[in-house]
Parts: sequence; structure tokens; C-alpha cells
Amino acid sequence: MLVEDDPSIAALVELYLKDAGFRVGHATEGERALQHIRARPPKLVILDIGLDGHLDGFEVCRRLRASSDVPIVLLTARDAEDDRLLGLELGADDYVTKPFSPRELVARVKAILRRAEPARPDASPVLAVGDVEVDVSRREARARGAAVALATREFDLLQFLAEHRGIALSRQQLLDGVWGEGWEGDDRTVDVHVRQLRKKLGDGLPLATVWGVGYRLG
Ligand code: CA
Repeated sequence: MLVEDDPSIAALVELYLKDAGFRVGHATEGERALQHIRARPPKLVILDIGLDGHLDGFEVCRRLRASSDVPIVLLTARDAEDDRLLGLELGADDYVTKPFSPRELVARVKAILRRAEPARPDASPVLAVGDVEVDVSRREARARGAAVALATREFDLLQFLAEHRGIALSRQQLLDGVWGEGWEGDDRTVDVHVRQLRKKLGDGLPLATVWGVGYRLG
């Protein structure tokens, strides 16, 4: 689902996505986008921040996250670091900075969808750390037995930390391991997601800040 009010950008993105084999729905306005998404949940949402109508992309993101963990890729303006951080805080999974290459956007979309696919059950144990369980095959996190809704990247980060439990990992190691090498974000991307994990999973998550290094789970 593409939510973008600029017709030329929308047409270009749609063209590249269709070329890559995706079916693409398009809305130029937040309310309509939310209606579409509720009626026919897409596999992924590409969301511009400046939109027609009275809802901006942040508000659409916030409302979507209240009820859905669909992957969201934000389109942000160049040099708008605050926008990117706010977007990640609101649960967006990734962002692409305008002007962007449509090919790059398609590559990001594919990477996110690949990660969101459930892995084969036999290869995927349930990792337990503190009072938190990370069920890799179901892509479900549970705190004290209750399922907790996480955004795609939040789950990826939790899984990566759980797979390396007891080890202090630097922010760069986390960026490389979770977001992939070549990701253009900075250390604060990690901090934002750690904050979300702590908020959502609560005291049962033994996630320590290691001064001068980064983070350690368990
Ligand atoms: Ca726009």
C-alpha cells in the first residue's frame, strides 16, 4: 500500500513495485489510506509524511500501530533527522530519504518482507531471556506469557539480542546485525528501538545498557 500525495513520485514508485511483481494500492490521503488498509490489510505500507487531508504520515503511522504490526516504510525529507527518529519511535520499520532511488526503495521493501516471513519451525527455537520469550517461528514476543505486539524491526532487534544473550553488543554491531550493513541510520536508531522494547516488554526484560559499549541482554 502506497500512501503518497505527489502524483509523479507515486507513479514512479508504483511502476517499480509492479515491475518487481508487487500489487500496489495507492492513496493520497491519510483517512482513505487507513480505510483501505483496514478493509484489505496489505503486506507492507509505504508512507509519506506530508499528505493531502488533515492527517500527516506520523498520525497515520500512530493509528496503524494501534492495531497492526504491518511493516511500515516512511518517506522522509532529506536532513529531517527528527522526522526519522519520530517515525521510528512511532513504530515505522524503515525509512527512505527523498529524493530516493526507486530501485533502493524496492530493495528495502524486499528485505523487510523477507525478514517478516515466518522461518521454518524446526530451525527456530523459542528463546527465553528473563521473563521474556522470543518465539522465532511465530515471530511473537511474550512477556510473562502474554503476547506483546512489536514492530518488525523491534522484533528483529529483540531476536538478535536474544541470540547473543550475555554478550555486550555495540550499537554498530546491532545496526549491522539487525538493519544490515550499508544502513544509513545512526546510533540513535538503536537507542530508539531499545527504548520501545523496554517500554513494551517491561521489567521482565533484562536488557542492560553497557556504558561505552552498547547493550546486553541477559
Ligand atoms: Ca507528500
